[in-house]
Amino acid sequence: MTEKADLTSIDVTAVLDRAASGGRITPEEALVLYRDAPLHALGAAADAVRRRRYAGTEHIATYIIERNINYTNVCVTACKFCAFYAPPKDTAKGWTRDLDDILRRCAETVELGGTQIMFQGGHHPDYGVEYYEKHFAAIKREFPQLVIHSLGASEVEHMARISGMSVEEAIRRIHAAGLDSFAGAGAELLPERPRKAIAPLKESGERWLEIMEIAHGLGVESTTTMLMGTGETNAERIEHLRMIRDVQDRTGGFRAFIPYTYQPENNHLKGRTQATIFEYLRMIAIARLFLDNVAHIQGSWLTTGKEIGQLSLHYGADDLGSIMLEENVVSSAGAKHRSNRLEIIDLIRKAGRVPAQRTTTYEHIVVHDDPANDPVDDRVASHISSTAIEGGTAHPELKLVSSN
Ligand code: SF4
Repeated sequence: MTEKADLTSIDVTAVLDRAASGGRITPEEALVLYRDAPLHALGAAADAVRRRRYAGTEHIATYIIERNINYTNVCVTACKFCAFYAPPKDTAKGWTRDLDDILRRCAETVELGGTQIMFQGGHHPDYGVEYYEKHFAAIKREFPQLVIHSLGASEVEHMARISGMSVEEAIRRIHAAGLDSFAGAGAELLPERPRKAIAPLKESGERWLEIMEIAHGLGVESTTTMLMGTGETNAERIEHLRMIRDVQDRTGGFRAFIPYTYQPENNHLKGRTQATIFEYLRMIAIARLFLDNVAHIQGSWLTTGKEIGQLSLHYGADDLGSIMLEENVVSSAGAKHRSNRLEIIDLIRKAGRVPAQRTTTYEHIVVHDDPANDPVDDRVASHISSTAIEGGTAHPELKLVSSN
């Protein structure tokens, strides 16, 4: 399918009605809706689907408390949209965290009520399966209550190559060591043309999905993502969704779909293209309509802003992502939005929903249905390159950055 395909016979209103009532739509129909349906009608149809899927709890929107732990920025893959990595030769810019530092960050996460660790870093030329086994085992030994929801197909492909083993074996071993689920990073854009344009050294989109399918078959579920705004066409965005839906029909292993927008600073693409807010909201809505086999659609306030996060809850999203106690990757490329637990609770309420803190697998930990019982710990906030606790024990180079 291309942008120029003859789609004139597709009736927007009829397809929207069918999608809103739960009928499956084709990629061609999805492209027409994404491109041409009135914005509010698209959002209303997506919200109808969300309400029906969550009948009984449709008044709730969820969030999670987690910490991204960036173990290294050294990377051989040099993606053009990335402002985080340092090539191995750049020893002035490159860094790695030692295990003690990582465990201190885990301890802070537990102290602040976080439930999930997102272990995220570059494709370090020396880090094979053994590195991840050692670190995941240590985290689970010290903090068995933390869920390790981390990495993605790209890291698996890389670590398996370094260790000279199959991706099946790599997945089995890191799962046995403590990895609970894959975060699905590295999906970027799955179709060949836009992927090659922004991440020429990454595995192909087909291979990314193949590795996720292997993981699902081994009992390791995942989320999946889309990076919007690096010059891809509308048709390529819909093709990305089609590729995910086809795998999901076979495995059922994708728990959530999380689109987010390219951030323009400090990377090779230099912000020449960017997705608009409307394009983002349309993607949230079309994902809810087209991905009829994926349970959760996540709104991302981190890259689009809090108000847009609120709006996404009316365009089909059922979840507002995380309070990230630490985030360094999209922040490096210019994402400046920060928030804290009390503010996220307030945002969700003001969007007309009841907030609920969730687990990695979307069970509700606490439903904030009475403001009188709201949590009071204002240290539960998102930070850039930070120790999550002021005066805390994390690495001295790190600074606390207040929310805005
Ligand atoms: S996105 Fe990941 S793989 Fe690509 S350059 Fe950045 S750290 Fe490396």
